[in-house]
Amino acid sequence: MEHKLKRLKNKLHEVNDLNMVSALLNWDQSTYMPPGGAAARGRQMATIGRLAHEKFTDPEIGKLLDDLRPFEESLPYDSDDASLIRVTRRSYEKSTKIPAKLVSEFSAHRAGAYQAWTKARPNNDFTAIRPNLEKTLDYSRQIADCFPGYDHIADPLIDFSDEGMKADSIRALFAELRQQLVPIVQTITAQEIADGSCLHQSYPTDQQLAFGSAIIKRYGYDFERGRQDMTHHPFMTKFSLGDVRITTRVKEDDLSEALFSTLHEAGHALYEQGINQKFEGTPLAGGASSGVHESQSRLWENLVGRSRGFWAHYYPQLQIAFPEQLSHVPLDTFYRAINRVSRSLIRTDADEVTYNLHVMIRFDLELQLLEGTLAVKDLPEAWHGRYQSDLGLRALDDRDGVLQDVHWFGGWIGGAFQGYTLGNIMSALFFDEALKAHPDIPVQIEQGKFDTLHTWLKENVYQHGSKFTANELIELVSGGPLTIEPYMRYLRTKFGALYSL
Ligand code: ZN
Repeated sequence: MEHKLKRLKNKLHEVNDLNMVSALLNWDQSTYMPPGGAAARGRQMATIGRLAHEKFTDPEIGKLLDDLRPFEESLPYDSDDASLIRVTRRSYEKSTKIPAKLVSEFSAHRAGAYQAWTKARPNNDFTAIRPNLEKTLDYSRQIADCFPGYDHIADPLIDFSDEGMKADSIRALFAELRQQLVPIVQTITAQEIADGSCLHQSYPTDQQLAFGSAIIKRYGYDFERGRQDMTHHPFMTKFSLGDVRITTRVKEDDLSEALFSTLHEAGHALYEQGINQKFEGTPLAGGASSGVHESQSRLWENLVGRSRGFWAHYYPQLQIAFPEQLSHVPLDTFYRAINRVSRSLIRTDADEVTYNLHVMIRFDLELQLLEGTLAVKDLPEAWHGRYQSDLGLRALDDRDGVLQDVHWFGGWIGGAFQGYTLGNIMSALFFDEALKAHPDIPVQIEQGKFDTLHTWLKENVYQHGSKFTANELIELVSGGPLTIEPYMRYLRTKFGALYSL
């Protein structure tokens, strides 16, 4: 058995090496690559991706997993070896159940659909992209059908990003959230909108970057095992547990852009840097799910980085960095500006209170498309209808409507959005548990100290990598299932102090 496990690990390391090379090529493409490199880079990434897929779906891996089953069953569920075998098996099954022909047809299709979207969005031309989207929906159903026995057709697709989560339970959780959020949004947006003008002055790039870096260093982001570069759409990536990188973009007329994207991506990176080093090179060396990953970016960006205590410490330093712009702006004005709530049409620009409404609209529409209760041709109108009812707004066109997000045009339909809101819900749940263990965390944050919180997260969340599913991890940390209570309590407390609720 020891020999077989070693053999499995060796094979998984090779797959991992290829995946990490692919990530490096992708990072380079998004940061420094000149435009002339695009065509060859696309080909190189496709080649590496194919090799990684071939290596991972090698029947010998399936055989090793079968042979190792008795060994796995003889070990405790949460032991490193049992977890490695279990997690590898789940992902092996996912990778082998979809026929190779379907995989290659779909990847060719999605590349074309993405290209079409990059033209259709600026042209506000849903009709042009509609046939692509209809095909994407068809492929999405075919992919789901490779996993028969599901309760809802979206379940297998959701499982790819949020393992173990199901459409029905997410729908119930979201319904509860929506029911509580909509009246709060209505109450807040009926009041005066906070003045955000202090954020929109001229802020030189270098000082913005230096300020953000200083904060994430204090958070615990290890620059010896990471770095930050510039890109168009900020992301975190890793090439090993010793090389976890983040990217950002700067707008000189918007202080919040680089600052909060840096705190967000650093949250993702702290998670990856905190994974047990023993898992290096194996499928355990990653986050538990898209929701759990997002919980960490939101926790460090919002629950910490947009809190009053945090700015009680950092605002005087920000004023020193930008005296002309901020010396006359009181802390309270700045705090209200970074937590300004308003109805908006664009998900990525949304504030903490309205953000989840954007996500839930997309989640519901995905389910309806997959169920066949909504046709692609009716999607733009369904989108507008939901924005009208949930946010009281209607986009003037499809550019700011159904065409705004890349997800459905660069991937499949189903499972693409729920992780953002699950992440928000989980961020408050984890933070709550950290506070129960260490009630002095808020006082430490006011002093610019994050060690206790960071250490708690490492011990309770980060170190496990993807050993546990999101539901298992939540059960382990909180002793119960995922609930919206801590999140709603957080929103009500924070925004109740800013607005009358
Ligand atoms: Zn994120």
